[in-house]
Amino acid sequence: MMAPTERPVIPAGTFADRLTRAGVAAQEGGLSALLIGVGSDLRYLTGYEAMPLERLTMLVVRPDASPFIVVPRLERGAAEAGLRTAIEIRTWDETDDPYALGIIGLSPTAAVAVSDTMLAMHVLRLQAALAPAARFSLASSVLRDLRMIKDVDEIALLRLAAQAADRVVASIAAGRLIGRTEADVAREVRERLITEGHEEAHFAIVASGPNSASPHHEASERVIRAGEPIVLDIGGTLSGYGSDITRTLWVTGGDTDLGPDEAFRHLFNVLYHAQASGTAAVRPGVACESIDAAARGPIDAQGYGEAFFHRTGHGIGLEGHEDPYLVSGNTLPLRAGMAFSVEPGIYLFGRYGARIEDIVVCGDDGPRVLNEAPRELMVVDG
Ligand code: ZN
Ligand code: ZN
Ligand code: ZN
Repeated sequence: MMAPTERPVIPAGTFADRLTRAGVAAQEGGLSALLIGVGSDLRYLTGYEAMPLERLTMLVVRPDASPFIVVPRLERGAAEAGLRTAIEIRTWDETDDPYALGIIGLSPTAAVAVSDTMLAMHVLRLQAALAPAARFSLASSVLRDLRMIKDVDEIALLRLAAQAADRVVASIAAGRLIGRTEADVAREVRERLITEGHEEAHFAIVASGPNSASPHHEASERVIRAGEPIVLDIGGTLSGYGSDITRTLWVTGGDTDLGPDEAFRHLFNVLYHAQASGTAAVRPGVACESIDAAARGPIDAQGYGEAFFHRTGHGIGLEGHEDPYLVSGNTLPLRAGMAFSVEPGIYLFGRYGARIEDIVVCGDDGPRVLNEAPRELMVVDG
């Protein structure tokens, strides 16, 4: 188990630097302010992991002034404890209007960008307060360029999260599976992710038998039997940064007659090479859609094209799914420091399926694969 003290801590200076860069990016984007509600943008810029509430908590980043945060008076202590960089805290009382222009320091002609996950109840009140001439857009238009490029501390946390998830996969594969329900195994996955140092376990897909042909199968009361595959796709967060790994198992019950059939071995072999091909294509300058094509090519070539019907991957960081997305049509070139999943799958509806997923960082000259669990088909007694 990873003791918290062994983890990198994002230094206070990093948050100050991110705030400065966000202000510059806002100016370049012609914005009067970034209005950042509770969520991963706020955590990225200040370290503050605020409670999502109906009461307004909002960071205001302006090119022409120091950043400040508006919080309800009763959250002041939490904000002081949670902010990792020294910025002004403006509190509002229960009977105040927190959307008042005097508090947020903006004029009705402002061009503002709100964080993508700000609640509509706050956005609509802000729109009313800044009406009629204000223009609203999404803060991701300026923050995505910052957030997509992970620094060394962020990559170290993503690696620790990946390694913790690797260990959970290994212990599940080594343990008892036959006769248990998917839901029971999923519970064990969640417990083990926490034991391995995650603060939260966000998902535990345990898809057995024909359920393995459903990419986002919800672990069910189905009982796992010998002679079938299990797609295990698990993840959560460690110091805020996500893990996300998929491995495919085949449970035999110790009976060699119940091993994977030839058709499944062939399917898995194609998938294995597709996933390796996608990963190998990672380097700076390569378009996101080219990684998707590199993974999809071998699957198409073997006639499974129709059976791979989702994108190849998604970015990962403080959000489990974030930019960049590895999907046809996304011409964004990869840059060193981008982190994302490479996760092709092949799904034969009604029969079975398989997926392999790693978290990969784009290095200066090629891929850095954070997951180390073996990607081969894991044939286990179960
Ligand atoms: Zn998914
Ligand atoms: Zn996954
Ligand atoms: Zn994923």
